[in-house]
Amino acid sequence: MADKAERNPLSNGSNSSDAPSEPAPIAKTRMAETIKHGGRIYQLMVESVHDYAIFMLDPAGYIASWNKGAQKIKGYTADEIIGQHFSIFYKPEDIAIGHPQRELEIATAEGRFEEERPRLRKDGSEFWANVVITPVRDEDGTLVGFAKVTRDLTERRAAEQKAIEDARRVAMSESANVAKTEFLAAMSHELRTPLTAIQEGTALLLEEIPGPVTASQGEVLGVVRSHSERLFRSISSVLDLSKMEAGMMEYAPIPTDLASLIDRSIETVRLITQKKRVHLETAPASSLPLLSLDEGRIQQVLDNLLGNAVKFTPEGGTISVSATVADDGTGQGRWVEVRVSDSGIGIPAEEVERIFERFYQSPSHRGESVRGTGLGLAIARHVVEAHGGRIWAENREGKGSTFVFTLPVDENHQEEEQRKGNTLASQVGRSNAL
Ligand code: ADP
Repeated sequence: MADKAERNPLSNGSNSSDAPSEPAPIAKTRMAETIKHGGRIYQLMVESVHDYAIFMLDPAGYIASWNKGAQKIKGYTADEIIGQHFSIFYKPEDIAIGHPQRELEIATAEGRFEEERPRLRKDGSEFWANVVITPVRDEDGTLVGFAKVTRDLTERRAAEQKAIEDARRVAMSESANVAKTEFLAAMSHELRTPLTAIQEGTALLLEEIPGPVTASQGEVLGVVRSHSERLFRSISSVLDLSKMEAGMMEYAPIPTDLASLIDRSIETVRLITQKKRVHLETAPASSLPLLSLDEGRIQQVLDNLLGNAVKFTPEGGTISVSATVADDGTGQGRWVEVRVSDSGIGIPAEEVERIFERFYQSPSHRGESVRGTGLGLAIARHVVEAHGGRIWAENREGKGSTFVFTLPVDENHQEEEQRKGNTLASQVGRSNAL
């Protein structure tokens, strides 16, 4: 090592303070003077840098100086490493292709070499290094060695790699979601078209348009109709779920009279409640403001809640629907609260949240007369939340269940509301007649 230091031009005093300095702008500053005459200060400064390995190589690539940062990053002390060839930091495969030597050649020819590449620590472990090599020349332009600055970018690279990996995973799952949604959209179209023909054909037969139908034939046709309706609803729910998960559910809100949507849902279940002798009542409501809603989607929520209420309420039970305007005085604005209560089989307290999970059906409800997909409430929650509202279920301790959802009032539409004067009360009379 002593030999090496002797033939090292850097350690031969070529950097000494009596060497004439180049007439460069910095040479005229006090900083240059300090560096020139205060070589010791400059050396101390470099030596004490912790975050960068800063060291010198002689023209042949042997290490001539070492700082704290170099020790911290690479693990060698100055005594261990000075005099060694800098290729010690390279992986064998890099040495095999002459990479260290080529770096010095490029730095010499181009005045600078920079790269990011794995390097080895003393313990053989790898780190991701950013390396800058700059040739150092004396006053005559003779190459006296190289300044090498190395940064350990392992953590930054790991974070970058993770970000890339995350982005790739998101992109892959997004494109898989889009593909799934497109597939389901195509499939559901393929399934719904013949299903519509079956439904229309069944309706024609039941209306006896092609000719008279016997009672037993009518019964069979009734079964065909109810099963095809169920199938139609299941296909639509699966398609909605996949749109929901792919973030492709689209909403087109317009100023809407919620009372008329409630009325329509009540009409939908009217026949079946009559058949089941379930009493359907609506509470008198004050005038409802116009709401900014996607009519079709909110109708779907109401249909689901009322459909469930009918499904889970035995003969002779009661279903009630109310809609009221609420304001908690916190200045957060007003909202409309819709409540659908039934006197049916109820929901176990520990399941009031779980029933909003996709495909969840209460184990106690999986009777053959109450079959469904377990998707309706998951979709309802997505729809209500997309409108800025909330939806939840309440367990009424053996007295049935209540589903509540809220929708914010868009105060901008209230002038229109005044004009139209929509009230839920206007349909209460009709609904009560059921
Ligand atoms: P589906 O009705 O098709 O099964 P939903 O998502 O609409 O799917 O409902 C999920 C589950 O929540 C139902 O299977 C049932 O267990 C429970 N549930 C929903 N509505 C009621 C209700 N009115 N009374 C009792 N249980 C209900």
